[in-house]
Amino acid sequence: MTTRLYTHPIFLEHITPPGHPERPDRLRAIERVLDDEAFAALDRVKAPEGDEATILYAHPADFVARVRAAIPEEGIARIDADTTASPKSWQAVIAAIGAANAAVDDVFAGRADNVFVAARPPGHHAEKTTAMGFCFFNTAAIAARHAQKKHGAERVAIVDWDVHHGNGTQDIFWDDPSVLYCSTHQMPLYPGTGAKSETGAGNIVNAPLAPKTGGEVFRDAFLSRVLPALDNFAPDLIIISAGFDAHHRDPLAEINLTEDDFDWATGQLMQRAARHSGNRLVSLLEGGYDLQGLAFSVAAHVGRLMKG
Ligand SMILES: [Zn+2]
Repeated sequence: MTTRLYTHPIFLEHITPPGHPERPDRLRAIERVLDDEAFAALDRVKAPEGDEATILYAHPADFVARVRAAIPEEGIARIDADTTASPKSWQAVIAAIGAANAAVDDVFAGRADNVFVAARPPGHHAEKTTAMGFCFFNTAAIAARHAQKKHGAERVAIVDWDVHHGNGTQDIFWDDPSVLYCSTHQMPLYPGTGAKSETGAGNIVNAPLAPKTGGEVFRDAFLSRVLPALDNFAPDLIIISAGFDAHHRDPLAEINLTEDDFDWATGQLMQRAARHSGNRLVSLLEGGYDLQGLAFSVAAHVGRLMKG
C-alpha cells in the first residue's frame, strides 16, 4: 500500500488557552512517533493551500463570515464555551481543509491508496451553522462533498470512531442519503446526540457505547452495525473521522480501547475499502487528548494503513 501523510507547521500555531486539552503538543507527539524508522516508507507531504470556497460545501456563507470575523488579531477569542481562536487559527483551519481535500484528490488519482491527515483543529462537532467542541468547520463533511463534486463519487461513507458523537457530521448529512455516517461513541457524553434512534434518511448509523466498556463492545458494534451498513452502502470512498479519545488513557471519556483496537478497526475498514472503494480511504485526525495514548494509537493506525 502507498500511504501518504499530510502535516503542516501552521497546525501548531492554532493556540488554545493554558490547560486546554486540544493543544499543539498533540501533533508534536504524533510527529515524534511517526519519526520512527518503521514509518520511513510514509509519503510525507506538506498540506497545500486550502480553497476557502470549499467550506461552502458544508456551511452557509454568512456562518463562514461570522467565524472569520471572530478570529482575533492578538490573544485568544472565545467562539463557544470550549472553542477558542488565536490569530493563526484561520490559516490552520484552511490548511486542514486543504489537506483533507488533497487527500481525496490523491486517492482518486491513484497517488496513494490511503492517506492520514494529521491536522488540527478537528472538525466533526461543527454543524452547518455552529462552531463548537474545539471545531470550526466540518473538515470530513467538506472532504466528502469534495469527492462528490470534483471526482463524481456517488456514495461516500464517513466512519467516526472518535469517543464523542459527531453531531456536526450528522447534522450536515441528516437528509442526504448519498453520504453514510456511522459513529461509535460513548453515551452519555458530550455533545449528547448519537442515540440509535437518530437515523436521518436511513443514512445515519449510531452505535453508542456505555461508559467503562472496552474493545469487545467496540468491536461488536463495528461487526454488528458499522460494517454491515458499509457493505450495504458500497461507498466509492471511505473517510475516517479518526479520533483516538476512546483510548483507555484518555482524560475526556471512559471507554477503554487499546492501540490494538484501532489497529483492528483500521484493518476492517481497509477490507471494506478494498471490496467497495478501490482501496480509497482517507483518515482525518479528530480528538485524542492523552499524548501517549494518542501517539501509540496513531502509530498502530498508520502502521496498519501502510501494511494493508
Ligand atoms: Zn472526541
